[in-house]
Amino acid sequence: MLHCPSCQSIKVVKNGRIHNGKQNHKCRDCGRQFVANSQQKIISQSTKNLIDKLLLEKIPLAGIARVCDVSEPWLQNYVNRKYASVPQEVQVTSKKKGA
Ligand SMILES: [Zn+2]
Repeated sequence: MLHCPSCQSIKVVKNGRIHNGKQNHKCRDCGRQFVANSQQKIISQSTKNLIDKLLLEKIPLAGIARVCDVSEPWLQNYVNRKYASVPQEVQVTSKKKGA
């Protein structure tokens, strides 16, 4: 839910578009105009699932960010949290080579 960055009100209405085509909004409580911050966009679970698959393909984060339409800082943070939560699970066991 979009809310006003000044007063946190959810009484926000669309207020035309700014020069770069982004949707402008206006708060009906305090009158502030603002553009929704793309960093605050909710990343859907299906997008996260797709990112998980792309990570396995060794695609650079910048590429994944573009394909999935997420910001690179968000993606980096997501990856950091993901690998922090499973630290020791991916241990490579060395196979004995045939003599
Ligand atoms: Zn407000």
